[in-house]
Amino acid sequence: MTEILHAFREEHEIALTESMQGLISRHLPEERVAEADRNRTFLRDVWKTLGENGMLGLGMPVDCGGSGGGVAESTIVTRELARVFPSMAVDYVLCGMVGRTIIDSGQHTDLIAGLASGERIYSYALSEPGGGSDLLALRTQAKFEDGSWRINGQKLWISLANEADLIFVLARTDKPEEGRSQASGLSLLIVPADQPGVQANKVNLAIMRAAGTCEVFFTDAIAPADSIVGERGRGLHALRGTLDVERVLSAAISLGIGHGALDLVLRYVNEREAFGGPISRYQAVQHPLAESAAELTAASLLVEHAARLIDAGKPASQESAMAKLVAAECVSRLVDHASRVMGAMGIAEESAMQRFLRDARLQLFSPVNNDLVRSIIAQGLGMPRSY
Ligand SMILES: Cc1cc2nc3c(=O)[nH]c(=O)nc-3n(C[C@H](O)[C@H](O)[C@H](O)COP(=O)(O)OP(=O)(O)OC[C@H]3O[C@@H](n4cnc5c(N)ncnc54)[C@H](O)[C@@H]3O)c2cc1C
Repeated sequence: MTEILHAFREEHEIALTESMQGLISRHLPEERVAEADRNRTFLRDVWKTLGENGMLGLGMPVDCGGSGGGVAESTIVTRELARVFPSMAVDYVLCGMVGRTIIDSGQHTDLIAGLASGERIYSYALSEPGGGSDLLALRTQAKFEDGSWRINGQKLWISLANEADLIFVLARTDKPEEGRSQASGLSLLIVPADQPGVQANKVNLAIMRAAGTCEVFFTDAIAPADSIVGERGRGLHALRGTLDVERVLSAAISLGIGHGALDLVLRYVNEREAFGGPISRYQAVQHPLAESAAELTAASLLVEHAARLIDAGKPASQESAMAKLVAAECVSRLVDHASRVMGAMGIAEESAMQRFLRDARLQLFSPVNNDLVRSIIAQGLGMPRSY
């Protein structure tokens, strides 16, 4: 199935796919992934290996310490990682988003080398208990006092915050300007994680168990005066330039889960026998899987199209939103069919299918929920804003 897109790929992209598959087969065998998932462990050694091999710096310029390449290359790596270990693919995308935001702002670019090598981890802290989809409802405050920023508030569902050196926090620094939306006055600040005012605790989720999802409390946490990314009061603006990329890479996670689940179920239905032959001979088994494979191929083309538009510097908001939506919904149906035809084995701890089934759930609502994505697409089609 992966090979479908090889027809459109340049040689270096095929080499990247093969190099990533090689790294995965050496460092992420199924037993290791299953154990890390069960114990909710972030595999720092594998993370560093990804860094040493240039995977973490993709999409960030070489002269800043990145590995170059664009969204198309990051999509390949994200998909291959999610095909085996979706939790790590989530971390890959979210930590990468921090790098892209830095590059987009043209500030703090000295931070890229540490991120790209895997030596340093930066978390991306937007969501709060009272504001996930509705970011404008956030309550975290940052006040400038005695030459530094003092941050108070709580963030929730933050990937790798307990492993992070720096946490990029969206907080209110100023009151909204009169006549402007609640978005004005929000700023993105770089907060050092290793200080008494920052407390990150892991939260146990039933999905993406090894992604290191955390709640983070900021109690008079301190950040240096120059820690703002982009302009003060325009934090959402600083993030906006990377939203399309985030959607495409989220779609790539869906594709990876879809490919992983499809490979697994196809092996299974050809081996599993019932009533004197392999279950793959039944149309009830064949048809949903055939349909899922067709949908996955269509979603792959959409993701590829959106990635290439972004890399070409063309408008891609509609295409990125569509790719996110279509890939997430298609993989949700795919894992449902796949686990059903595997019967009890589809939910057995010893099979990776139960992991794909659980992890595909995230794709429906994160990093942005699909209902909101539908509204964004509708707006792009000329209908009124409905949220
Ligand atoms: C494993 C994991 C890792 C994460 N990592 C990070 C991270 O690193 N950093 C970070 O900041 N966040 C992170 N998140 C948070 C994630 O981005 C949010 O879960 C997501 O934005 C949705 O927010 P919510 O969960 O608060 O759902 P809500 O905003 O409460 O939405 C719940 C549901 O309400 C409906 N809904 C909401 N708004 C609308 C609307 N306008 N129109 C129609 N329907 C609507 C949808 O059905 C939606 O699914 C992570 C979450 C998980 C599970």
